[in-house]
Amino acid sequence: FPSSSVLPLNSSKSDSFETQQQNSEKPIFNPHDINPNLLQKLVYDALVWCSLHGLLVGDRTAKKSGTVPGVGMIHAPISLLPASFPEDHFKQACELASIFNELFDRVSLDAKFLQDSLSRTRKVDEFTSRLLDIHSKMIDINKKEEIRLGLHRSDYMLDAQTKSLLQIEFNTISSSFAGLMCLVSELHRNLLGLYGNQLQLDFRKVPENASVQHFAKALAEAWREYNNPRAVVLVVVQAEERNMYDQLWLSDVLRERYPFCFSNKTCGKLVVVKLSIFKRIQLKWKTLAEIDAEGKLLPDGTLAVNGEAVAVVYFRAGYAPTDYPSELEWRARLLIEQSSAVKCPSIAYHLAGTKKIQQELAKPNVLERFLDNKEDIAKLRKCFAGLWSLDDTEIITDAIERPELYVMKPQREGGGNNIYGNEVKEALLRIQKGGSEEDAAYILMQRIFPTVFPALLVREGIFHKDHAISELGIYGSYLRNKEKIIINEQCGYLMRTKVSSSDEGGVAAGFAVLDSLYLS
Ligand code: ADP
Ligand code: MG
Ligand code: MG
Repeated sequence: FPSSSVLPLNSSKSDSFETQQQNSEKPIFNPHDINPNLLQKLVYDALVWCSLHGLLVGDRTAKKSGTVPGVGMIHAPISLLPASFPEDHFKQACELASIFNELFDRVSLDAKFLQDSLSRTRKVDEFTSRLLDIHSKMIDINKKEEIRLGLHRSDYMLDAQTKSLLQIEFNTISSSFAGLMCLVSELHRNLLGLYGNQLQLDFRKVPENASVQHFAKALAEAWREYNNPRAVVLVVVQAEERNMYDQLWLSDVLRERYPFCFSNKTCGKLVVVKLSIFKRIQLKWKTLAEIDAEGKLLPDGTLAVNGEAVAVVYFRAGYAPTDYPSELEWRARLLIEQSSAVKCPSIAYHLAGTKKIQQELAKPNVLERFLDNKEDIAKLRKCFAGLWSLDDTEIITDAIERPELYVMKPQREGGGNNIYGNEVKEALLRIQKGGSEEDAAYILMQRIFPTVFPALLVREGIFHKDHAISELGIYGSYLRNKEKIIINEQCGYLMRTKVSSSDEGGVAAGFAVLDSLYLS
């Protein structure tokens, strides 16, 4: 979609499952047809597996489940069986990861591009404006981030009509579920191992998923690059977090799998014995308010929290306005940014992940500003959906006429913020009438309609037969120290499945369930 053209789509929604079945040569496996006895067994075994293997979230009905680990745990919302997904599209998405990693690193270095692209948004969006203020301060003091760590997730939907893989968004902050997703794939492989014959499904078609190991490795390598064996990894968290087991899995793998040998001592005279000292990386969990209270910038730029030097700051909070209820939190974010600690993400990485930047990158000739390789550029462009700013009058007119073909997005993260359907029309008319600059708070995006398929969604121990659509996320990790690229890789996947009648897709926000892939 060239960014200035009107959507060349008709208004029919995605193929229904029934039409899909008629059209395709092979009959599609329909989990709604599984016999009730087998279904009961599958659900029971899945629930047991989740409980025994830590595929868990905090139970919102239990009071302390968001603050005390081990209290009020419930199995994560899951799809009982993996969602069918074409192998070539999966490969395509995986291949894009390292190109996107590189792109976002380069975008983060272009302070002018970030500031200019967001300059109108700044006037009407207080949250983005505060982030930009921190970014401006870093420009003023000529702050350089030499060690840059990105733990990203690029999300896609497969458009049913065009059979093309289209990007929903690129997340540069708090990309969640890398911890739990390995378990979902394992659960599905395990269930298919047990019941594959009866279901006529082969567990080997569920790709293994090592997202948690990759993320842990990237954090460990960043810690190592920082090169202070006494420094800790600081995880910035919300005061209450029901998705804590996802974070705890990552922390646990980091601590257990990546002890570092940091010094060699030679003992004795005749017999030379080399002693290697292995050290486990220490992790600390703090809210922004706690960091404000306990944090200090040492004269050499080290961030010290409660007297301990911090090597890496990993944000699992700080992406939403609600994470900054007072000035304390903003002060903490600034303190972190000023320090020499490796930030995941830095303020520039955070801003590069906004919806506005996604839309700017989709404009003609913008990718060329950041990447040289023409093939890479073509690959990225191929997965861009239609994206527009609201000063494009031709698109606004069309979106008012056919709002069901668009999604309106503010500069927010975490799910539940977008505008769909008739509300797009209402919002656009209101903005047009108001004559304010409120339009700059949003972008418009082509609505993607993936294939609807029959699914079995399991929540709170109960399964629901429903019609669903899926969104595929591909994790990417990137680490560099000055000119040295240490990691640039695709690292596992997230599949989320939601009932097709729901607009939004977040698992934590309660719209979707965790799923894995069955390659077709
Ligand atoms: P967030 O950063 O809040 O996750 P997203 O852009 O991912 O914002 O939008 C949230 C959800 O809305 C997605 O997970 C997806 O289910 C749905 N969504 C977003 N953009 C589109 C689109 N263009 N077409 C269809 N659904 C979309
Ligand atoms: Mg997001
Ligand atoms: Mg999203």
